[in-house]
Amino acid sequence: MTQTMRAMLLGEPGQPLRLVTLPVPNPAAGQVLLKVEACGVCRTDLHLIDGELPEPKLPIVPGHEIVGRVAAVGANVAGFAPGQRVGVPWLGWSCGRCRHCLGGRENLCGQARFTGYQINGGYAEYTVADARYCFPMDEAADAAEAAPLLCAGLIGYRALTMAGGASTLGIYGFGAAAHIVSQVARHQGRRVHAFTRRGDVEAQGFARELGAVWAGDSDQAPPEPLDAALIFAPVGGLVPRALTAVDKGGTVVCAGIHMSDIPSFPYRILWGERCIRSVANLTRRDGEEFLALAPRVPVRTEVRRYALEQAAEALDDLRHGRFRGAAVLVMDRG
Ligand SMILES: [Zn+2]
Ligand SMILES: [Zn+2]
Repeated sequence: MTQTMRAMLLGEPGQPLRLVTLPVPNPAAGQVLLKVEACGVCRTDLHLIDGELPEPKLPIVPGHEIVGRVAAVGANVAGFAPGQRVGVPWLGWSCGRCRHCLGGRENLCGQARFTGYQINGGYAEYTVADARYCFPMDEAADAAEAAPLLCAGLIGYRALTMAGGASTLGIYGFGAAAHIVSQVARHQGRRVHAFTRRGDVEAQGFARELGAVWAGDSDQAPPEPLDAALIFAPVGGLVPRALTAVDKGGTVVCAGIHMSDIPSFPYRILWGERCIRSVANLTRRDGEEFLALAPRVPVRTEVRRYALEQAAEALDDLRHGRFRGAAVLVMDRG
């Protein structure tokens, strides 16, 4: 008899997620079957549902911040045992043979496949994942609090590394990624300046609680020039604003997978060896580094918990900024 599971399924972009019953998948060679404990809700899930990402594999179970326990192990998998807790990130598969993969930049692999986008993800009671892209996770941690580390934390960390040795750092958009990255940046001795939607005093207060030396509106000038700025909000208009806030030689890092168009701007705000760059996805090395660093900070995530069938509500709350920190689906609320 085939076991079944509940899952939230996206049939077509623009349509609501549907609660469905699906067979529990079998792990193929190289895969593990996970009983999902918790799955974070990421802005990328909104971009997927809104049709802003090209060529999703439909229908798809979204979700790429998965914390689960190994329920079964496929053939040719070493190093994972039933019951072990693992985390699954956004990058779910890469070819291992192209020049990007061979150069340690598997995040740029042209054949890469992504969890919850081309591979069924964690908005479900079970999922299968390529064992090479599963990270061992803290067995004692709260699963919901650990889930946002797998994208908000990990891609935030990659963005932060792109800031190099910046000692004054601006963060535009104070959501799930920013609330984690600001803790890491402060731990590294950087001075964090947080920029939010105009008048969002709650997010600004949250940023100060997490150690930001200054918090204000995104169209305000910071009290000191920035060495680097990270943009987490998917708003292209923030790029010229951040450019005017960074000092000569500074870097503006665009950390989201999708952004509205960047308006034209005068060359003088780029002049002075200022630099704009994007961050794409993650590497397994980022995951290993960040998951080792997070408990040393220690990173404390603030989460709002939802049941699986409340995924649409969680996404709507994310869209409208109705919580601070991160939204997480928790499978077993018992
Ligand atoms: Zn490749
Ligand atoms: Zn994400």
